[in-house]
Amino acid sequence: QADLTGRVALVTGGSRGIGAAIARALSAAGADVALTYERSRDLGEKVAAGLEERGGRGLALPADSADASAIQAAVDRTVAEFGRLDIVINNAGIFPYGPVEETDLAEIDRTIAVHVRAPFLAVRAAVPHLGRGARIITIGSNLAERAAFGGIALYVMSKAANLGLTRALARELGPRGITVNLIQPGSTETDMNPAVGDSADLQRGLMALGEYGSVDDIAAAVVFLAGGSARQITGATLTIDGGTNA
Ligand code: NDP
Repeated sequence: QADLTGRVALVTGGSRGIGAAIARALSAAGADVALTYERSRDLGEKVAAGLEERGGRGLALPADSADASAIQAAVDRTVAEFGRLDIVINNAGIFPYGPVEETDLAEIDRTIAVHVRAPFLAVRAAVPHLGRGARIITIGSNLAERAAFGGIALYVMSKAANLGLTRALARELGPRGITVNLIQPGSTETDMNPAVGDSADLQRGLMALGEYGSVDDIAAAVVFLAGGSARQITGATLTIDGGTNA
């Protein structure tokens, strides 16, 4: 288990699902954790309060990832509140789905803003605060490397950008002792991807292991990459998808 005592993390989209599990796991490893949410104020506050109840420090911040100034403000608030920043987790995401010819411009722009622009902006805001040993981890998707069914062109296009960002930033920030990695979940049970219904059965059929992953499977990998044992890992992609892409 990594010891993140004294470290400060910012998790985007930490009010529910994978992001909430990441916030809890980083906190359990000793980090102070700020998390953002878009609409779920109550849930975000509840996650942060839960971290405090277990003896950590937590902070819930409203910040729409599609809003550039909100991302900057979230980074600034985190540093103001906790005094430093060491770990940036780009997790906030949405799942646009449908035929390419029916996709409207607003949805295209929003998806690119949340999945492509926001991680870049979060890193841009965070890097001046990051020292040696800092970590940047983005939550992409296994679909970025294998689009297994139709209707996901916008989602896949936007998640594919995370691969490029990770590699290029690893190269750029390596000399400063900052590692940059990508985790690509596959079917993971959350509000975004419930493990019931026709779509869930289709997804299980694509998996080698045949069972949905849990949010804790992803969070455990984040904690590992955030810890000292992963110091030599950068520019890497870890796909956690029960073998869907195998
Ligand atoms: P959920 O829908 O369960 O949770 C999404 C989280 O992101 C919520 O905390 C939500 O906040 C936040 N969020 C969404 N849009 C914004 C925004 N514009 N600004 C700030 N926060 C936002 O999704 P998951 O936990 O399943 O997904 C988390 C990440 O994992 C996403 O990037 C997703 O693409 C990726 N992923 C998920 C997979 C899965 O099977 N679940 C598979 C592959 C990748 P709020 O509560 O306020 O809405």
